Amino acid sequence: MNLSNSAQQTILTGDRPTGQLHLGHYVGSLRQRVQLQHQHQQYILVADLQGLTDNGSRPEKVAGNIFEVMADYLAVGIDPAKTTICLQSSLPALAELTMLYMNIVTVARVERNPTVKSEIAQKGFARSLPAGFLVYPISQAADITAFKAGLVPVGDDQLPMIEQTNEIVHKMNSLAGEPILHSCKALLGQVSRLPGVDGNAKMSKSLGNTLTLSASEEQIHQAVGAMFTDPEHLRVNDPGKIDGNVVFTYLDAFHEDKDKVAAMKEHYQRGGLGDRQCKNELEICLQALLAPIREKRLRFIEDKAYLSEILKAGSEKARAVTQQTADEVKRALGLPVL
Ligand code: ATP
Ligand code: MG
Repeated sequence: MNLSNSAQQTILTGDRPTGQLHLGHYVGSLRQRVQLQHQHQQYILVADLQGLTDNGSRPEKVAGNIFEVMADYLAVGIDPAKTTICLQSSLPALAELTMLYMNIVTVARVERNPTVKSEIAQKGFARSLPAGFLVYPISQAADITAFKAGLVPVGDDQLPMIEQTNEIVHKMNSLAGEPILHSCKALLGQVSRLPGVDGNAKMSKSLGNTLTLSASEEQIHQAVGAMFTDPEHLRVNDPGKIDGNVVFTYLDAFHEDKDKVAAMKEHYQRGGLGDRQCKNELEICLQALLAPIREKRLRFIEDKAYLSEILKAGSEKARAVTQQTADEVKRALGLPVL
């Protein structure tokens, strides 16, 4: 997408405070947000209500991670003077819009959402599926539309949410008889789905397969050492496979010297390049990426008063913007706004 044509568009993106942010967030979305904040009005929502949809009986887990996620934002370079960071549960208009939208989306439609479907299976909910979890894509549509966001930087698991949001926008606008809500586009990162360090599913806070942005030198060393390569690459001189080789997936995602990675791939496939050497190269680049982030993060997490101030100011600004949209929607539906 040509961003220069869309410079006027508002950005809304967010994360569930269900744990510390990880390398998947970094390449999937955070890296873009840092660049985009210079050209766009950008809001980042700490989605605590959404975090509760599968943590209903563990509210302390969600509450306890709000500042952790904020420290991650600031450590990677999100600037609170440029980006508005706000808290979902402090924006009542989002809940109002969710209630309104729930009436125009069928249960069959939410059940068809492929990301929700696979998360329900992964979490083994069966009959204990919380109602809130099933409808979280509707609340996500409320989040995006409340800010009138046109661009949403996300990983590819979120594409079905954007599609569903646009269906709601279309339906609401036709009910209203005027274009009160804006449609939106996903902005995928350079790596839209980073696998976990075990090489299986998407790296995800709830799957325990992450390398967090606060990982210690030793944790990085251990994670890279345990990474899956090509199981048939037994001797250094054997030709090796790149497909499904997590070390190369990560080198592609994080190594800045793309020519060097291309040469390594060619050498590995030809034979003569050992797994150890590839892992060393990856470890050097991850250590260099994470060391300054870890250091900054530590300073931010120790200053809760500062984090709280930023969240309060951001939420106040967001409260006004989102309430205006909710009021417009209510008026357009003929409901009194008292
Ligand atoms: P949880 O397991 O609690 O759902 P998560 O690790 O999936 O946590 P989210 O807060 O759900 O993280 O996701 C926030 C944003 O980061 C979304 O836009 C999502 O697409 C993106 N993202 C998360 N994990 C990855 C990944 N492994 N690769 C690319 N993008 C990712
Ligand atoms: Mg998720």
